[in-house]
Amino acid sequence: MLDHNNKYTREYAQELDEKDPLAAFREEFYISDEQIYFDGNSLGLLSKRAEQTLLKMLHSWRDRGIDGWTEGEYPWFYLSETLGEQLAPLVGATKDEVIMTGSTTSNLHQLVASFFTTSSGRNKILADELAFPTDIYALQSQLKLRGLDPATHLVKVTSQDGHMLDEDDIIAAMTEDIAMIILPSILYRSGQILDMKKLTEEAHKRNIVIGFDLCHSIGSIPHQLSEWDVDFAFWCNYKHLNGGPGAVGGLYVNKRHFGQTPGLAGWFSSRKDRQFDMDHELTAATDAGAFQMGTPHVLSLAPLIGSLSMFHEAGIDRIREKSVKLTEYMLELIDLELKDYQFIIRNPREAKMRGGHIFLEHKEAARICKALKENKIIPDFRSPNGIRLAPVALYNTFTEVWDVVQKLKKIMKEEQYKKFENKRGVVA
Ligand SMILES: *Cc1c(COP(=O)(O)O)cnc(C)c1O
Repeated sequence: MLDHNNKYTREYAQELDEKDPLAAFREEFYISDEQIYFDGNSLGLLSKRAEQTLLKMLHSWRDRGIDGWTEGEYPWFYLSETLGEQLAPLVGATKDEVIMTGSTTSNLHQLVASFFTTSSGRNKILADELAFPTDIYALQSQLKLRGLDPATHLVKVTSQDGHMLDEDDIIAAMTEDIAMIILPSILYRSGQILDMKKLTEEAHKRNIVIGFDLCHSIGSIPHQLSEWDVDFAFWCNYKHLNGGPGAVGGLYVNKRHFGQTPGLAGWFSSRKDRQFDMDHELTAATDAGAFQMGTPHVLSLAPLIGSLSMFHEAGIDRIREKSVKLTEYMLELIDLELKDYQFIIRNPREAKMRGGHIFLEHKEAARICKALKENKIIPDFRSPNGIRLAPVALYNTFTEVWDVVQKLKKIMKEEQYKKFENKRGVVA
């Protein structure tokens, strides 16, 4: 047996990996021996299963032509629904409440166009000042389309420390003029998890519709959207879900809202048995499928078939359990090894409030990230001074966590970052 008095040795990290019940999944991914990939919360890696289902889909086009819409192992005409059903357990929904369609941004547009009404005299949307920019741009343009000035009609909850949101501040901002609330489930920088259940309850007490952006939580933490009675949600599938660059996104609409006319309709909003009637009067689907618009991007859906099968086998609870252990271990190592180098940890320390990534601030962040890359570690730089490091449960290891912290320590100690400019590249 190893010396358990020291949790902070590489041998101990290796022992954690040996005991890891999810360890086998790493073998299913394309992982370079030369690098440590800690950017799975920006773009997840390719798995062999995702590759296979993409190739199958490509071949169904090759072999069947137009008949691929209705024939073959995964008929394209039903693929958005089939995948919605496959994903539903990850958000705690029934299969008809989820559809794979659009992107985060287009789904947000669709949901606001469908569920923002000013008929009750309420005409403002509540968001937060730490929101991902695309969400804010979408909300601003939706308000403008209704003739409302975003400067006065988009209310942003402020953050007391610039990194986290206080749920009491959010609740206090749920005033009588708010018609709709859009919040992230997990903040993309600090990784803070918002209490979706509590916020939904408070919003509903005040007759406000509430929706969540799940980009950083889907595939990383469990959700119970239906039990919490969330009105709607939307997300991308290329981060923790490893659906590939530009993978088709997803949305959830609570059963209570079935029958709601889609704000942005198209022929794929149709009831499937009526779509090819080619009628000019839309008979919208009576489930989440109504919020689709046009022809699905079949090849950008295909990898998700393989990828989601891994989430089912691994189980989101086990994924979350390992993820918490990885980030906890990493934070402990950062406390211990990097204490002399002016890093500030911006994550919540409490595990139940923390998502799947670490967010460090440092005034030299841009060039520290370049030095990490030179050391074959793939981080994620967030302007102006943030370093995101995501040890992903399905394919990263405790040993990698240990190695990354040691590499970072060496970079700081030897001032390796000083040979780079402290400026970001075009992407991140
Ligand atoms: C990644 C991300 C997006 C991306 O939106 P796309 O429409 O997929 O480009 C939006 N919101 C959040 C919070 C994100 O993390």
